Amino acid sequence: MCQSFFIKDNRSELLLHAHKYDFDIVFFDEVSRFVEAVARDNGDNLYVIDLDALHTMQADMGDGRRTLMLGELLQRLPGDHSYIYLQSARQGGRFFLQQRLVDSNCLAYAEKPIANDVLVDKLFNLFVQKKRGDLVRVAVLGEVAGLDEANLLLRRIELVRHQDPTTLHVRVKELQPDLILVSDTEYARTDAIVRVLKRNIEADPVRETALLQRRPDAALARRALLDGFDAVFDMSDPALLEAQLLNRAGKIRINKDLIGKDRATGLLNKVGLQKKAQDLIRQAAQDGRPLAYGVIDIDKFKTINDTWGHSFGDIVIKRLSLTLASRLGEQDLLSRFGGEEFVLVFWDCSLEEGQRRMDAMRQAFCAIPFEVGRGDIRHFSFSGGVAAYPAHRSENELFLRADAMLYEAKQGGRNRICAQESGAWTMATD
Ligand code: GH3
Ligand code: MG
Ligand code: MG
Repeated sequence: MCQSFFIKDNRSELLLHAHKYDFDIVFFDEVSRFVEAVARDNGDNLYVIDLDALHTMQADMGDGRRTLMLGELLQRLPGDHSYIYLQSARQGGRFFLQQRLVDSNCLAYAEKPIANDVLVDKLFNLFVQKKRGDLVRVAVLGEVAGLDEANLLLRRIELVRHQDPTTLHVRVKELQPDLILVSDTEYARTDAIVRVLKRNIEADPVRETALLQRRPDAALARRALLDGFDAVFDMSDPALLEAQLLNRAGKIRINKDLIGKDRATGLLNKVGLQKKAQDLIRQAAQDGRPLAYGVIDIDKFKTINDTWGHSFGDIVIKRLSLTLASRLGEQDLLSRFGGEEFVLVFWDCSLEEGQRRMDAMRQAFCAIPFEVGRGDIRHFSFSGGVAAYPAHRSENELFLRADAMLYEAKQGGRNRICAQESGAWTMATD
Protein backbone atom coordinates (compact mmCIF):
# COMPACT_ATOMS: atom_id res chain seq x y z
CA MET A 1 0.00 0.00 0.00
CA CYS A 2 1.35 3.38 -0.86
CA GLN A 3 -0.41 6.70 -0.66
CA SER A 4 1.08 9.84 -2.13
CA PHE A 5 0.55 13.16 -0.45
CA PHE A 6 1.16 16.60 -1.82
CA ILE A 7 0.89 18.39 1.43
CA LYS A 8 2.83 20.94 3.37
CA ASP A 9 2.31 20.65 7.08
CA ASN A 10 1.79 17.92 9.64
CA ARG A 11 4.06 15.45 7.95
CA SER A 12 5.32 13.60 10.97
CA GLU A 13 1.89 13.33 12.56
CA LEU A 14 0.27 12.19 9.32
CA LEU A 15 2.96 9.55 8.93
CA LEU A 16 2.37 8.35 12.46
CA HIS A 17 -1.33 7.78 11.81
CA ALA A 18 -0.71 6.31 8.37
CA HIS A 19 1.67 3.73 9.78
CA LYS A 20 -1.18 2.32 11.81
CA TYR A 21 -2.67 1.23 8.51
CA ASP A 22 0.67 0.21 7.08
CA PHE A 23 0.55 3.10 4.61
CA ASP A 24 3.68 4.31 2.99
CA ILE A 25 3.40 8.07 2.43
CA VAL A 26 5.53 9.95 -0.04
CA PHE A 27 5.55 13.76 0.23
CA PHE A 28 6.21 16.07 -2.69
CA ASP A 29 7.23 19.73 -2.65
CA GLU A 30 7.60 20.17 -6.35
CA VAL A 31 4.75 19.92 -8.78
CA SER A 32 6.86 18.48 -11.57
CA ARG A 33 8.13 15.66 -9.34
CA PHE A 34 4.60 14.91 -8.19
CA VAL A 35 3.30 14.86 -11.76
CA GLU A 36 6.13 12.54 -12.82
CA ALA A 37 5.43 10.16 -9.93
CA VAL A 38 1.72 10.05 -10.77
CA ALA A 39 2.45 9.42 -14.45
CA ARG A 40 4.78 6.53 -13.58
CA ASP A 41 2.25 4.89 -11.27
CA ASN A 42 -0.05 2.00 -12.19
CA GLY A 43 -3.05 3.49 -10.37
CA ASP A 44 -2.94 1.51 -7.11
CA ASN A 45 -2.16 4.62 -5.10
CA LEU A 46 -4.14 7.57 -3.81
CA TYR A 47 -3.01 11.12 -4.58
CA VAL A 48 -3.77 13.94 -2.20
CA ILE A 49 -3.33 17.56 -3.26
CA ASP A 50 -3.31 20.34 -0.71
CA LEU A 51 -4.55 23.45 -2.54
CA ASP A 52 -3.16 25.75 0.14
CA ALA A 53 0.30 24.60 -0.70
CA LEU A 54 -0.13 26.16 -4.13
CA HIS A 55 0.04 29.69 -2.74
CA THR A 56 3.53 29.23 -1.45
CA MET A 57 4.65 27.03 -4.26
CA GLN A 58 6.72 28.12 -7.17
CA ALA A 59 6.73 26.36 -10.47
CA ASP A 60 9.06 26.61 -13.37
CA MET A 61 6.58 27.17 -16.16
CA GLY A 62 9.19 27.78 -18.83
CA ASP A 63 8.94 31.56 -18.41
CA GLY A 64 10.74 31.74 -15.11
CA ARG A 65 9.62 30.75 -11.61
CA ARG A 66 6.31 32.13 -10.40
CA THR A 67 3.35 31.10 -8.32
CA LEU A 68 1.41 28.22 -9.80
CA MET A 69 -2.23 28.79 -10.65
CA LEU A 70 -4.83 26.17 -9.86
CA GLY A 71 -5.86 25.80 -13.50
CA GLU A 72 -2.27 25.16 -14.51
CA LEU A 73 -1.91 22.45 -11.89
CA LEU A 74 -5.13 20.71 -12.87
CA GLN A 75 -3.99 20.77 -16.48
CA ARG A 76 -0.68 19.14 -15.70
CA LEU A 77 -2.09 16.27 -13.65
CA PRO A 78 -2.29 13.01 -15.61
CA GLY A 79 -5.94 12.46 -16.58
CA ASP A 80 -6.04 8.70 -16.04
CA HIS A 81 -5.80 8.92 -12.25
CA SER A 82 -8.13 10.30 -9.56
CA TYR A 83 -7.16 12.82 -6.93
CA ILE A 84 -8.20 13.85 -3.45
CA TYR A 85 -8.23 17.62 -2.96
CA LEU A 86 -7.71 19.29 0.38
CA GLN A 87 -9.13 22.78 0.54
CA SER A 88 -9.89 25.48 3.07
CA ALA A 89 -13.46 26.29 4.14
CA ARG A 90 -13.14 29.57 2.23
CA GLN A 91 -12.26 27.71 -0.98
CA GLY A 92 -15.05 25.22 -0.25
CA GLY A 93 -17.56 28.07 -0.09
CA ARG A 94 -16.87 29.08 -3.68
CA PHE A 95 -19.19 26.98 -5.79
CA PHE A 96 -17.43 27.56 -9.12
CA LEU A 97 -14.06 26.56 -7.69
CA GLN A 98 -15.78 23.55 -6.17
CA GLN A 99 -17.34 22.67 -9.50
CA ARG A 100 -13.98 22.93 -11.21
CA LEU A 101 -12.41 20.57 -8.68
CA VAL A 102 -15.07 17.88 -8.74
CA ASP A 103 -14.86 17.89 -12.54
CA SER A 104 -11.07 17.41 -12.43
CA ASN A 105 -10.74 13.65 -11.83
CA CYS A 106 -11.83 14.14 -8.25
CA LEU A 107 -12.19 10.96 -6.17
CA ALA A 108 -13.06 13.01 -3.09
CA TYR A 109 -12.39 16.37 -1.50
CA ALA A 110 -11.90 17.30 2.13
CA GLU A 111 -12.26 20.61 3.88
CA LYS A 112 -9.62 21.78 6.31
CA PRO A 113 -9.19 21.83 9.18
CA ILE A 114 -9.42 18.07 9.28
CA ALA A 115 -7.74 16.04 12.01
CA ASN A 116 -4.85 13.92 10.78
CA ASP A 117 -6.30 10.68 12.14
CA VAL A 118 -9.68 11.43 10.54
CA LEU A 119 -8.05 12.18 7.18
CA VAL A 120 -6.00 8.99 7.28
CA ASP A 121 -9.04 6.96 8.32
CA LYS A 122 -11.06 8.38 5.39
CA LEU A 123 -8.18 7.66 3.01
CA PHE A 124 -8.06 4.09 4.28
CA ASN A 125 -11.79 3.76 3.57
CA LEU A 126 -11.30 5.11 0.04
CA PHE A 127 -8.52 2.63 -0.45
CA VAL A 128 -10.70 -0.26 0.72
CA GLN A 129 -13.52 0.94 -1.58
CA LYS A 130 -11.18 0.94 -4.58
CA LYS A 131 -10.92 -2.82 -4.24
CA ARG A 132 -13.30 -5.00 -6.24
CA GLY A 133 -16.84 -4.70 -4.86
CA ASP A 134 -18.67 -7.70 -3.43
CA LEU A 135 -21.05 -9.57 -5.72
CA VAL A 136 -24.63 -8.28 -5.44
CA ARG A 137 -27.19 -11.00 -6.12
CA VAL A 138 -30.51 -10.03 -7.71
CA ALA A 139 -33.50 -12.38 -7.91
CA VAL A 140 -35.92 -11.56 -10.75
CA LEU A 141 -39.53 -12.74 -10.80
CA GLY A 142 -41.27 -12.46 -14.16
CA GLU A 143 -40.28 -11.45 -17.67
CA VAL A 144 -37.68 -8.68 -17.92
CA ALA A 145 -36.36 -8.32 -21.44
CA GLY A 146 -33.26 -6.66 -22.84
CA LEU A 147 -30.94 -6.61 -19.81
CA ASP A 148 -27.26 -7.12 -20.64
CA GLU A 149 -26.56 -9.82 -18.06
CA ALA A 150 -22.91 -10.29 -19.07
CA ASN A 151 -22.23 -6.59 -18.56
CA LEU A 152 -24.01 -6.61 -15.20
CA LEU A 153 -21.90 -9.58 -14.09
CA LEU A 154 -18.78 -7.65 -15.07
CA ARG A 155 -20.00 -4.90 -12.73
CA ARG A 156 -20.43 -7.56 -10.00
CA ILE A 157 -24.22 -7.93 -10.24
CA GLU A 158 -25.59 -11.44 -10.70
CA LEU A 159 -29.16 -11.93 -11.99
CA VAL A 160 -31.02 -15.09 -10.99
CA ARG A 161 -34.34 -15.62 -12.74
CA HIS A 162 -37.33 -17.26 -11.13
CA GLN A 163 -40.69 -17.92 -12.75
CA ASP A 164 -43.08 -19.21 -10.07
CA PRO A 165 -44.46 -16.59 -7.63
CA THR A 166 -45.61 -19.28 -5.18
CA THR A 167 -42.09 -20.66 -4.68
CA LEU A 168 -40.17 -17.36 -4.73
CA HIS A 169 -39.92 -17.21 -0.93
CA VAL A 170 -38.32 -20.68 -0.86
CA ARG A 171 -35.81 -19.68 -3.55
CA VAL A 172 -35.04 -16.45 -1.67
CA LYS A 173 -34.33 -18.44 1.48
CA GLU A 174 -31.79 -20.57 -0.34
CA LEU A 175 -30.27 -17.82 -2.53
CA GLN A 176 -30.24 -14.98 -0.01
CA PRO A 177 -30.38 -12.29 -2.75
CA ASP A 178 -29.60 -8.65 -1.92
CA LEU A 179 -32.28 -7.29 -4.21
CA ILE A 180 -35.56 -8.80 -5.45
CA LEU A 181 -37.22 -7.51 -8.63
CA VAL A 182 -40.87 -8.34 -9.29
CA SER A 183 -42.50 -7.51 -12.63
CA ASP A 184 -45.80 -5.62 -12.59
CA THR A 185 -47.59 -8.57 -14.24
CA GLU A 186 -46.48 -10.97 -11.48
CA TYR A 187 -47.36 -8.48 -8.76
CA ALA A 188 -50.81 -7.87 -10.22
CA ARG A 189 -51.33 -11.64 -10.31
CA THR A 190 -50.02 -12.51 -6.79
CA ASP A 191 -49.89 -9.41 -4.61
CA ALA A 192 -49.12 -11.35 -1.42
CA ILE A 193 -45.56 -12.01 -2.66
CA VAL A 194 -43.84 -9.10 -0.98
CA ARG A 195 -45.73 -9.56 2.31
CA VAL A 196 -44.72 -13.24 2.43
CA LEU A 197 -41.11 -12.23 1.79
CA LYS A 198 -40.96 -9.36 4.27
CA ARG A 199 -42.72 -10.88 7.24
CA ASN A 200 -40.35 -13.80 7.57
CA ILE A 201 -38.69 -13.10 10.92
CA GLU A 202 -35.37 -14.20 9.46
CA ALA A 203 -35.61 -11.96 6.37
CA ASP A 204 -32.48 -9.90 5.77
CA PRO A 205 -33.41 -6.33 6.84
CA VAL A 206 -31.02 -4.84 4.27
CA ARG A 207 -32.58 -6.73 1.38
CA GLU A 208 -34.53 -4.52 -1.04
CA THR A 209 -37.56 -5.36 -3.12
CA ALA A 210 -38.48 -3.35 -6.20
CA LEU A 211 -41.44 -3.36 -8.56
CA LEU A 212 -40.67 -3.25 -12.28
CA GLN A 213 -43.21 -1.33 -14.35
CA ARG A 214 -43.60 -1.67 -18.08
CA ARG A 215 -45.56 1.60 -18.23
CA PRO A 216 -46.36 4.18 -15.55
CA ASP A 217 -49.28 3.11 -13.36
CA ALA A 218 -49.49 5.39 -10.33
CA ALA A 219 -52.23 3.39 -8.61
CA LEU A 220 -50.30 0.11 -8.86
CA ALA A 221 -47.05 1.79 -7.76
CA ARG A 222 -48.75 3.35 -4.73
CA ARG A 223 -50.25 0.01 -3.74
CA ALA A 224 -46.86 -1.70 -4.14
CA LEU A 225 -45.13 0.84 -1.88
CA LEU A 226 -47.84 0.37 0.77
CA ASP A 227 -47.44 -3.38 0.45
CA GLY A 228 -43.76 -3.20 1.39
CA PHE A 229 -41.87 -2.65 -1.88
CA ASP A 230 -38.90 -0.31 -1.39
CA ALA A 231 -38.83 1.16 -4.87
CA VAL A 232 -40.51 1.23 -8.27
CA PHE A 233 -38.32 1.04 -11.39
CA ASP A 234 -39.25 1.75 -14.97
CA MET A 235 -38.36 -1.28 -17.12
CA SER A 236 -39.48 0.06 -20.49
CA ASP A 237 -35.88 1.03 -21.25
CA PRO A 238 -33.31 -1.70 -20.44
CA ALA A 239 -30.38 0.76 -20.33
CA LEU A 240 -32.23 2.94 -17.81
CA LEU A 241 -33.05 -0.11 -15.69
CA GLU A 242 -29.41 -1.20 -15.82
CA ALA A 243 -28.30 2.22 -14.61
CA GLN A 244 -30.83 1.99 -11.74
CA LEU A 245 -29.54 -1.48 -10.81
CA LEU A 246 -25.91 -0.31 -10.78
CA ASN A 247 -26.86 2.56 -8.47
CA ARG A 248 -28.85 0.34 -6.11
CA ALA A 249 -26.05 -2.25 -6.06
CA GLY A 250 -23.61 0.47 -5.01
CA LYS A 251 -25.85 1.55 -2.12
CA ILE A 252 -26.47 -2.06 -1.09
CA ARG A 253 -22.71 -2.68 -0.98
CA ILE A 254 -22.25 0.35 1.28
CA ASN A 255 -25.05 -0.78 3.60
CA LYS A 256 -23.66 -4.30 3.73
CA ASP A 257 -20.20 -2.97 4.50
CA LEU A 258 -21.50 -0.74 7.30
CA ILE A 259 -23.31 -3.69 8.86
CA GLY A 260 -21.03 -6.58 8.04
CA LYS A 261 -17.52 -5.11 8.09
CA ASP A 262 -15.16 -3.90 10.76
CA ARG A 263 -14.35 -0.19 10.31
CA ALA A 264 -10.82 -0.41 11.63
CA THR A 265 -9.54 -3.21 9.39
CA GLY A 266 -12.07 -3.45 6.56
CA LEU A 267 -12.46 -7.17 7.35
CA LEU A 268 -15.77 -8.93 7.90
CA ASN A 269 -17.11 -8.55 11.42
CA LYS A 270 -19.07 -11.18 13.33
CA VAL A 271 -22.33 -10.40 11.50
CA GLY A 272 -20.71 -10.37 8.07
CA LEU A 273 -18.85 -13.59 8.75
CA GLN A 274 -21.92 -15.48 9.87
CA LYS A 275 -23.76 -14.91 6.62
CA LYS A 276 -20.75 -15.62 4.40
CA ALA A 277 -19.71 -18.70 6.38
CA GLN A 278 -23.20 -20.14 6.12
CA ASP A 279 -23.14 -19.53 2.35
CA LEU A 280 -19.76 -21.26 2.12
CA ILE A 281 -20.94 -24.26 4.15
CA ARG A 282 -23.95 -24.57 1.86
CA GLN A 283 -21.63 -24.45 -1.14
CA ALA A 284 -19.31 -27.07 0.41
CA ALA A 285 -22.27 -29.40 1.01
CA GLN A 286 -23.39 -28.93 -2.59
CA ASP A 287 -19.96 -29.52 -4.13
CA GLY A 288 -18.86 -32.19 -1.62
CA ARG A 289 -15.78 -30.18 -0.53
CA PRO A 290 -14.18 -29.94 2.93
CA LEU A 291 -13.68 -26.67 4.82
CA ALA A 292 -11.21 -25.76 7.55
CA TYR A 293 -12.43 -23.26 10.15
CA GLY A 294 -9.84 -21.49 12.31
CA VAL A 295 -9.97 -19.18 15.33
CA ILE A 296 -6.99 -16.98 16.20
CA ASP A 297 -6.28 -14.94 19.36
CA ILE A 298 -3.21 -12.76 19.94
CA ASP A 299 -1.06 -13.96 22.85
CA LYS A 300 -0.73 -11.81 25.97
CA PHE A 301 -2.43 -8.90 24.28
CA LYS A 302 -3.38 -7.27 27.56
CA THR A 303 0.31 -6.97 28.33
CA ILE A 304 0.94 -5.38 24.90
CA ASN A 305 -1.77 -2.79 25.63
CA ASP A 306 -0.60 -2.19 29.19
CA THR A 307 3.06 -1.84 28.25
CA TRP A 308 2.94 0.24 25.06
CA GLY A 309 -0.55 1.70 25.06
CA HIS A 310 -3.91 0.95 23.51
CA SER A 311 -3.15 2.65 20.20
CA PHE A 312 -0.02 0.56 19.78
CA GLY A 313 -2.26 -2.47 20.43
CA ASP A 314 -4.48 -1.26 17.57
CA ILE A 315 -1.47 -1.13 15.27
CA VAL A 316 -0.63 -4.74 16.14
CA ILE A 317 -4.21 -5.75 15.29
CA LYS A 318 -4.06 -3.97 11.93
CA ARG A 319 -0.71 -5.48 11.01
CA LEU A 320 -2.02 -8.94 11.89
CA SER A 321 -5.09 -8.38 9.73
CA LEU A 322 -2.88 -7.43 6.76
CA THR A 323 -0.63 -10.48 7.33
CA LEU A 324 -3.60 -12.84 7.37
CA ALA A 325 -5.35 -11.16 4.42
CA SER A 326 -2.26 -11.47 2.21
CA ARG A 327 -2.32 -15.26 2.63
CA LEU A 328 -5.94 -15.94 1.69
CA GLY A 329 -7.26 -17.81 -1.29
CA GLU A 330 -9.93 -16.30 -3.55
CA GLN A 331 -12.78 -18.16 -1.80
CA ASP A 332 -11.45 -18.09 1.78
CA LEU A 333 -13.02 -15.91 4.49
CA LEU A 334 -11.32 -13.74 7.09
CA SER A 335 -13.11 -11.94 9.89
CA ARG A 336 -12.16 -9.75 12.80
CA PHE A 337 -14.46 -11.57 15.15
CA GLY A 338 -13.78 -9.48 18.23
CA GLY A 339 -11.02 -7.23 19.62
CA GLU A 340 -7.90 -9.31 18.94
CA GLU A 341 -9.67 -12.44 17.74
CA PHE A 342 -9.94 -13.50 14.12
CA VAL A 343 -11.81 -16.26 12.32
CA LEU A 344 -10.65 -17.85 9.05
CA VAL A 345 -12.53 -20.23 6.77
CA PHE A 346 -10.46 -22.08 4.16
CA TRP A 347 -12.38 -23.32 1.13
CA ASP A 348 -11.76 -26.89 -0.11
CA CYS A 349 -9.28 -27.52 2.68
CA SER A 350 -8.78 -30.45 5.06
CA LEU A 351 -8.18 -30.15 8.80
CA GLU A 352 -4.47 -30.89 8.39
CA GLU A 353 -4.03 -28.47 5.49
CA GLY A 354 -5.91 -25.78 7.44
CA GLN A 355 -3.60 -26.30 10.38
CA ARG A 356 -0.55 -26.05 8.10
CA ARG A 357 -1.79 -22.85 6.50
CA MET A 358 -2.56 -21.23 9.85
CA ASP A 359 0.84 -22.25 11.11
CA ALA A 360 2.48 -20.53 8.13
CA MET A 361 0.50 -17.40 9.07
CA ARG A 362 1.65 -17.75 12.67
CA GLN A 363 5.29 -17.88 11.57
CA ALA A 364 4.83 -14.87 9.28
CA PHE A 365 3.27 -12.81 12.08
CA CYS A 366 6.00 -13.84 14.55
CA ALA A 367 8.60 -12.59 12.07
CA ILE A 368 7.20 -9.01 11.94
CA PRO A 369 9.54 -6.62 13.76
CA PHE A 370 7.61 -4.09 15.86
CA GLU A 371 9.69 -1.08 16.90
CA VAL A 372 8.30 -0.23 20.33
CA GLY A 373 10.98 2.31 21.07
CA ARG A 374 14.10 3.63 19.42
CA GLY A 375 16.05 0.49 18.43
CA ASP A 376 13.83 -1.69 20.61
CA ILE A 377 12.37 -4.40 18.39
CA ARG A 378 9.77 -6.86 19.69
CA HIS A 379 8.00 -9.83 18.16
CA PHE A 380 4.51 -11.02 19.05
CA SER A 381 2.58 -14.23 18.52
CA PHE A 382 -0.89 -15.68 18.32
CA SER A 383 -2.49 -19.02 19.10
CA GLY A 384 -5.06 -20.79 17.00
CA GLY A 385 -7.51 -23.66 16.90
CA VAL A 386 -8.88 -25.46 13.84
CA ALA A 387 -11.99 -27.51 13.13
CA ALA A 388 -13.20 -28.97 9.86
CA TYR A 389 -16.35 -29.48 7.83
CA PRO A 390 -17.94 -32.04 7.37
CA ALA A 391 -16.74 -33.51 10.71
CA HIS A 392 -18.51 -30.51 12.26
CA ARG A 393 -21.50 -29.51 10.24
CA SER A 394 -22.83 -26.07 11.27
CA GLU A 395 -21.09 -22.75 11.61
CA ASN A 396 -21.81 -22.77 15.32
CA GLU A 397 -20.40 -26.28 15.80
CA LEU A 398 -17.29 -25.37 13.82
CA PHE A 399 -16.75 -22.26 15.89
CA LEU A 400 -17.19 -24.08 19.21
CA ARG A 401 -14.80 -26.84 18.20
CA ALA A 402 -12.15 -24.43 16.84
CA ASP A 403 -12.51 -22.27 19.96
CA ALA A 404 -12.00 -25.34 22.17
CA MET A 405 -8.86 -26.10 20.17
CA LEU A 406 -7.72 -22.49 20.67
CA TYR A 407 -8.13 -23.04 24.40
CA GLU A 408 -5.92 -26.13 24.09
CA ALA A 409 -3.29 -24.06 22.28
CA LYS A 410 -3.32 -21.43 25.05
CA GLN A 411 -3.13 -24.15 27.72
CA GLY A 412 -0.29 -25.82 25.88
CA GLY A 413 1.88 -22.73 26.11
CA ARG A 414 0.58 -20.39 23.33
CA ASN A 415 2.20 -19.53 19.96
CA ARG A 416 0.85 -22.72 18.36
CA ILE A 417 -2.07 -24.03 16.31
CA CYS A 418 -4.09 -26.97 17.68
CA ALA A 419 -6.41 -29.19 15.71
CA GLN A 420 -6.94 -32.15 17.98
CA GLU A 421 -7.56 -32.46 21.70
CA SER A 422 -4.37 -32.75 23.77
CA GLY A 423 -2.75 -34.61 20.90
CA ALA A 424 0.82 -33.34 20.87
CA TRP A 425 1.25 -35.11 17.54
CA THR A 426 -1.07 -32.68 15.76
CA MET A 427 0.37 -29.60 17.37
CA ALA A 428 2.26 -27.30 15.09
CA THR A 429 4.76 -25.18 16.98
CA ASP A 430 8.39 -24.09 16.86
P1 GH3 B 1 -4.10 -14.66 26.07
O1 GH3 B 1 -2.73 -14.99 25.56
O2 GH3 B 1 -4.61 -15.64 27.05
O3 GH3 B 1 -5.07 -14.43 24.96
O4 GH3 B 1 -3.93 -13.29 26.87
P2 GH3 B 1 -4.55 -11.88 26.52
O5 GH3 B 1 -3.88 -10.87 27.35
O6 GH3 B 1 -4.48 -11.66 25.06
O7 GH3 B 1 -6.02 -12.10 27.01
P3 GH3 B 1 -7.36 -11.77 26.28
O8 GH3 B 1 -7.34 -12.40 24.93
O9 GH3 B 1 -8.46 -12.16 27.18
O10 GH3 B 1 -7.26 -10.17 26.23
C1 GH3 B 1 -7.79 -9.42 25.21
C2 GH3 B 1 -7.55 -7.98 25.50
O11 GH3 B 1 -7.60 -7.25 24.30
C3 GH3 B 1 -8.60 -7.35 26.38
C4 GH3 B 1 -8.90 -6.00 25.77
O12 GH3 B 1 -8.53 -4.96 26.64
C5 GH3 B 1 -8.01 -5.91 24.56
N1 GH3 B 1 -8.70 -5.41 23.38
C6 GH3 B 1 -9.87 -5.85 22.87
N2 GH3 B 1 -10.16 -5.16 21.73
C7 GH3 B 1 -9.16 -4.28 21.52
C8 GH3 B 1 -8.88 -3.29 20.51
O13 GH3 B 1 -9.64 -3.09 19.54
N3 GH3 B 1 -7.75 -2.57 20.62
C9 GH3 B 1 -6.88 -2.77 21.66
N4 GH3 B 1 -5.78 -2.03 21.70
N5 GH3 B 1 -7.13 -3.66 22.64
C10 GH3 B 1 -8.23 -4.42 22.57
MG1 MG C 1 -8.97 -12.59 23.36
MG1 MG D 1 -5.45 -12.79 23.60
